[in-house]
Amino acid sequence: MLRNLFILTDLEGVAGVTKFKQTREKGIENEKAKELLTQELNAVIDGINDLDDNIQIHIWDGHGSGGIIPEKLKPIETYIPHKSKKRFSMQDFFMENHIEALAFVGQHAMAGTPNANLAHTMSSRTIEYYKLNEMEIGEFGLRAALAGELGVPTIFISGDDKACNEAEDLIPNIVSAVVKNGTGLESAESLPFNEVYALLEKKIKISIKNMSKIEPYTINTPVTLEKRYRKENTFSVRFKWFYQLLKIFNKKRAEYVDHRTIRWKADSVRELENLKII
Ligand SMILES: [Zn+2]
Repeated sequence: MLRNLFILTDLEGVAGVTKFKQTREKGIENEKAKELLTQELNAVIDGINDLDDNIQIHIWDGHGSGGIIPEKLKPIETYIPHKSKKRFSMQDFFMENHIEALAFVGQHAMAGTPNANLAHTMSSRTIEYYKLNEMEIGEFGLRAALAGELGVPTIFISGDDKACNEAEDLIPNIVSAVVKNGTGLESAESLPFNEVYALLEKKIKISIKNMSKIEPYTINTPVTLEKRYRKENTFSVRFKWFYQLLKIFNKKRAEYVDHRTIRWKADSVRELENLKII
């Protein structure tokens, strides 16, 4: 029986959110987008409670500038805001709270995915790609791999079609809920909202019922993580001394590849999080 579920949220994979203006800039459009994510979460919470109201729900707002309106969120066990004084450690939280499953709501695809709505990896302005053990990886895969090292399966994703494809490629039997179909970086066709909420409520239940069929996602260790920055954003990576500094701070794990690319070596994905590299 599932007791503790962790939900990681983002704003770019939410139905009705299709432009970076809605996710990056403060203002009425951003407030509306946050409202939409909060409603999607409420549908997910309803589904979980309907299935088993003993499940404790822990939600982390994973969007850079904040994506949730906490006052409008239905009651849950823990709400973790995006910005807090102490850097949030997913692994510490998982251990302390005995998290048994991970779900994603509002997820987008990795940077560079063709026709994927609002696709990016970590920074929508500066990153060309992340590669984990030579394989291109997005936010989904990184967090799923971190959870996997702790023995926690990733059971559910909602977002655009390309984000869901990305998840299905990595995790057999994951349950996905496609709330919009991307047609370009800043265009998508979203389902009608009533259909979105009904779909989320239904699919989260299926994912919990079937969670024994889903294995934790694990990758080989030790790991390498390569980050490549976009040409137009070489500000922080133009100078070799920046890498030298990283080397010192990251205990010699950083390696200069070229003027836009840096590679780290670590014992595990957990160590990458501890070193604040992911
Ligand atoms: Zn994101």
